Amino acid sequence: MPTAYRGRFAPSPTGPLHFGSLLSAVASYLDARQQQGTWLIRIEDVDGTRCSTAFQQAIISTLHSYELFSDEDILVQSERYDLYQHHLEKLIARDLAYPCQCTRASLKATQGLHPSRCHSDTQTAHSWRAQCDQGIYEFIDPIQGPQHFDVRQPLNHPVLKRKDDYFSYQLAVVVDDHLQNISHIVRGADLLETTGQQLWLYQQFAWQAPELCHLPLIINEHGDKISKQNHAKAIPNGEVRVLQRVLHYLGLSNIPSDLNIARLLDWASEHWSQQRLCQASLPLQDSDQDFI
Ligand code: GLU
Repeated sequence: MPTAYRGRFAPSPTGPLHFGSLLSAVASYLDARQQQGTWLIRIEDVDGTRCSTAFQQAIISTLHSYELFSDEDILVQSERYDLYQHHLEKLIARDLAYPCQCTRASLKATQGLHPSRCHSDTQTAHSWRAQCDQGIYEFIDPIQGPQHFDVRQPLNHPVLKRKDDYFSYQLAVVVDDHLQNISHIVRGADLLETTGQQLWLYQQFAWQAPELCHLPLIINEHGDKISKQNHAKAIPNGEVRVLQRVLHYLGLSNIPSDLNIARLLDWASEHWSQQRLCQASLPLQDSDQDFI
């Protein structure tokens, strides 16, 4: 029996929702709806130093203003540390994770990368790193085409749990996508670079990885992606013209101008197709500067 479609949008509340994140939210929603699937919102707030409940609430209320409601309770990662710890311990027991006391300064020579196992003890503050020394992963991304990851390129053992006890995105995202039975992930192409490490984790836990689809990024005139780091603006709540522009960047054409948000989403879930998008970044159009 085919697995039921379960998709999700998983924002980190480190700032308000910006146009690029609304694009991912809408694309993942349309993909789920088109396949009569379930769509979930998950708050990825494992990094307690950068996330806030104010941003979490703002993001959820913006999503709701665009009629994007989670089909199940919204899961919040900061309430699930025990689960991540449990899975980390499974890796430690198999010697697939090891303690590390290296600092940013000590990793300067390798540009912050941690290429091989260090010899740290567990007596003083330390992080836990994944000993991912081998693994070649391949899949066909419906938008980005054939993908090939050698987990050792670049040479780096990623952090699974930080010295300050916060878990990393990598561990939490894999554990939750698996435990929530996510079958399809639609997200921005900026996350492709860490996908190899996520596939390594799936393999260690003997879990099947979801189908992965990475959306092209919208880039500004300097070639930078729209992101919080690049001071992307908070999008206004519930404006149909913003949703029309999102659909435009998602490759839809002849977008009706007379539908409200709910009906426009229904229309778009019938017309959405991953095939309309290509790998190339999407240049920001001048007329969109005011809300991007
Ligand atoms: N929480 C991540 C972010 O906001 C996205 C995670 C994912 O979609 O895998 O960038």
